[in-house]
Amino acid sequence: MIEHNISLQPYNTFGLAVKAKLMVRVSKVSCLQNVLSDANLKKEERFVLGGGSNILLTKNVDALVIKNELGGIDVLNETDDHALVRSGAGVVWHELVMHCIDKDLAGIENLSLIPGNVGAAPMQNIGAYGVELKDVFHSLEAVEMTTGAIRIFNANECDFGYRESVFKRKLKGEYIISSVTLRLNKKPKLNTSYGAIEEELNRLGIASPSIKDVSQAVINIRQSKLPDPKVLGNSGSFFKNPVVPNSKYEELKSKHPNIPGYPAGEETKLAAGWLIEQCGWKGKVVGNTGSHAQQALVLVNYGEATGLEIFNLSEAIMRSVDDTFGVKLEREVNVY
Ligand code: FAD
Ligand code: NAP
Repeated sequence: MIEHNISLQPYNTFGLAVKAKLMVRVSKVSCLQNVLSDANLKKEERFVLGGGSNILLTKNVDALVIKNELGGIDVLNETDDHALVRSGAGVVWHELVMHCIDKDLAGIENLSLIPGNVGAAPMQNIGAYGVELKDVFHSLEAVEMTTGAIRIFNANECDFGYRESVFKRKLKGEYIISSVTLRLNKKPKLNTSYGAIEEELNRLGIASPSIKDVSQAVINIRQSKLPDPKVLGNSGSFFKNPVVPNSKYEELKSKHPNIPGYPAGEETKLAAGWLIEQCGWKGKVVGNTGSHAQQALVLVNYGEATGLEIFNLSEAIMRSVDDTFGVKLEREVNVY
């Protein structure tokens, strides 16, 4: 059923009050294909929506919003060491994480409590606490927007990078991801090296953690640091952490000895939140928006913000980081 003139406020975690010209909810691949081939809808621009936790809507969406509600979680294949788990793109990511932990399948526990749906996870190769989707990714199924044809992508074809994939670059807007298959471990290799996890496990008095313990530690840390979008509208980290040549990092370090830097291949990853904080933005309120007091990288909606206000704040932050450090921040959030 096609809905008309729909408010998208409940469907974006910034809570921005914009409208969609048309919206359709799809819970089967065949329905999605019917929508894509419908002659009456052919002329409409398409906008794929998952959980709306990585978008900034700066205007009404003059398009057909396709709300992905493709469900189902299945184990496709198992060996002594691994299980292939396929999830529909409309499954809530954290529900998939909890489902796998319940079945003792390891690999995504560090990615607990990331908002949004499974189908959007490959878009930016979601990552947190030292783990990225690509570490457990097996393949995905996607429907071509123009033809409705189904295509399987393996990891190479997704061209995953740091908060990047082929779907954000070369194939932007060309496919709707319909399911994702992960290769999870039956014999867990825990990744607790990310400082805050060890600290939280120590605080909980856990010396030999299970995957459930690691997940709980991540959940505790996230709940203590990040604003809950249900309470304060936000889209998580607004910017990516910039990766710079080592020579640039050394130059910055000579002027700012405390600047954090982490090895990223042959280069160095800086912490965007630190750069923004140094420029005086952390906790600053600008009209109806601002940079969050506990995490400068998160821009928030104090209630009545427009997408444009948040966009303008992001421009001002990018300019001041560039002026102060000579580093160009890039937005992680998808701007419409
Ligand atoms: P949406 O916002 O609905 O869509 C994002 C983009 O993907 C849009 O361009 C949309 O058109 C496209 N898209 C969505 N679904 C599909 C599909 N099925 N096929 C094709 N295109 C599609 N991200 C991290 O990586 N790590 C984190 O730790 C993290 N923490 C966060 C914490 C908070 C509090 C919040 C609000 C966000 C956080 N995020 C994080 C960002 C966000 O949760 C992820 O990027 C998530 O994967 C977005 O999913 P979504 O379903 O909400 O996508
Ligand atoms: P944090 O622990 O305060 O660290 C700040 C930044 O330094 C992080 O962005 C992280 O980069 C980097 N960092 C810290 N320790 C590192 C290590 N041992 N090795 C490599 N890099 C390290 O970060 P936080 O803001 O509380 O977030 C914790 C995790 O959740 C991070 O992985 C972050 O990406 C993720 N997160 C993502 C979003 C989002 O919307 N994308 C929102 C909230 C949290 P990385 O970001 O590359 O890990």
